[in-house]
Amino acid sequence: MTVYLVGAGPGDPGLLTVRGAEVLGGADVVVHDRLSVASLLELAPPAAERIGVGKTPRGPSTPQEEINRLLVVKGRAGLEVVRLKGGDPFVFARGAEEAAALAAAGVAFEVVPGVTSAVAVPAYAGVPVTARGLATSFTVVTGHGDGLGATPTDWEAVARVGGTIVVLMGVATRSEIARRLLSGGLAPTTPVVSVRWGARPEQRTVRTTLGALAGADLESPAVIVIGEVAALDLAWYERLPLFGRAVVVTRPRHQAEALTRRLRRLGAATIPLPTIEVGDPADGGVALRAAAGSVSSYDWVVFTSANAVERFVPLLRDARAFGAARVAAIGPGTAEALAEANVVADLVPERFVAEALLEVFPPPPSCPGRGRVLLPRAAVARDVLPEGLRAAGWQVDVVEAYRTSAARPSPEALADLAAADAIAFTSSSTVTSFVEVAGARAVPPVVVCIGPVTAATARQLGISVDAEADVHTLDGLVDALVTALAT
Ligand code: SAH
Repeated sequence: MTVYLVGAGPGDPGLLTVRGAEVLGGADVVVHDRLSVASLLELAPPAAERIGVGKTPRGPSTPQEEINRLLVVKGRAGLEVVRLKGGDPFVFARGAEEAAALAAAGVAFEVVPGVTSAVAVPAYAGVPVTARGLATSFTVVTGHGDGLGATPTDWEAVARVGGTIVVLMGVATRSEIARRLLSGGLAPTTPVVSVRWGARPEQRTVRTTLGALAGADLESPAVIVIGEVAALDLAWYERLPLFGRAVVVTRPRHQAEALTRRLRRLGAATIPLPTIEVGDPADGGVALRAAAGSVSSYDWVVFTSANAVERFVPLLRDARAFGAARVAAIGPGTAEALAEANVVADLVPERFVAEALLEVFPPPPSCPGRGRVLLPRAAVARDVLPEGLRAAGWQVDVVEAYRTSAARPSPEALADLAAADAIAFTSSSTVTSFVEVAGARAVPPVVVCIGPVTAATARQLGISVDAEADVHTLDGLVDALVTALAT
């Protein structure tokens, strides 16, 4: 039982530390700020309790004493508790008070530092807080005031330090800050950059000067950088092809990673909305285990999903179990899952649909009693493949490898869905379960599907499809998305 005070970083979920991800993965309870990124909450086990606390500007907020008490109570109950805080937990975040409360109550705690917005947010706007010849120091100051525009900081002294001044929570008090920095000796022409929602798809950078700061059109939350470095414009994040776009990813939790990573690298925000959960087959896996035990008696084993591979392969006890049986994969994702288990697919059709696999599948051998195909697959699936193989003369054993059911997305994910720009469907079943979970009317403005079968399912359910991947892979899907969102 430990309470972890974890820095979540400034927004981009990739800026969570490895240690942060590790403790989130083992959390029983996650106590998070209301503005936490949904994809970070998804790192906690599905069964973990998620409690939203803390401040929303001008909205409801949980008093700090109550948060402290909650952490102590949950910690004492013997639970693994993650207190997830924006940026770094000890930078203007009241982490010190939470740690002190835990220490006083004798509850074990650990601090997992985070990437602070004071440095990372300017970096995402292309502004280095130090630069040779421009700044030899940076001073991080809170602009938090008394509600009447005054702040306790000696701004005149800060002005005399020279170097870069980074102000957090300074939007409301910016006219007092500017006035006093000017009276401390800074020039009105001193460059200023303000970055709102940095390291997030909503990032907005405003450039001004100290003389004009009071009148600049700024909104919270923002990091304000004052000094010569603020004139630098090494923009990179805002130039990524999917920057500013929020894309819903409907893949099951354990498979969302590959698509999510590709999208984030292009600057997109990803909204995880797993609509499907993969569970055991109805018979608990008895038939699948039996099939795995006699796999070498088949001529072919045909896999139509990575899920089937992941369920089947671990049941083989011997690396030689396939014997002479050959292996077919419906597409590269399935072939990749096989390759991870050191099985090289003998056959992958050029188009990744059942019909294409049938076209290239060889005829059965002519000797009687041979010609057996094993097809481990989802409980509910199209019958095109088994029927086509049977029509070609094969004896086909269809074995249930897993069952899919509709997942229940988090309320945070459903709220994010409303603001999303696009959705990427990777299979017919993700479309059907999305409609079940959120309704066809909840689809974001742009809909992209991995292939024709998925697109047909979407259209049947009344969803208009904007683009289909030319190549039916995740890369093809991402390409289609980039094109669809660029137009
Ligand atoms: N512990 C946090 C700071 C919390 S104080 C950290 O280390 O980053 C909250 C302030 O941080 C906000 O008012 C804003 O000034 C700044 N901030 C945090 N995240 C931000 C973001 N993504 N974009 C802009 N400002 C941010």
